[in-house]
Amino acid sequence: MICPRCRSKSVETVKVAPGGAWQVHQCTCCWYGWRNTEPAARTVPERFPEEFRLTRQAITDAPELPAVPPLARPVHADAQGAGDER
Ligand SMILES: [Zn+2]
Repeated sequence: MICPRCRSKSVETVKVAPGGAWQVHQCTCCWYGWRNTEPAARTVPERFPEEFRLTRQAITDAPELPAVPPLARPVHADAQGAGDER
């Protein structure tokens, strides 16, 4: 199997649905992940949009992974107060 985004052959199957209805694959080179049931533009290297493809050199030259910003507010803040309204 070949990664649709960077064309590496370092692809792992990370999850298989019960009964084999779908599989999730992930590239260990660029970390692109996809489910085999997604459209060809997400799963087939030749159909993957050129503007979103990566080369090994582009991955090597990338300055850093973008940081995940902090949450604007706690995710469970609303859920905690919901039980107090009896
Ligand atoms: Zn890749």
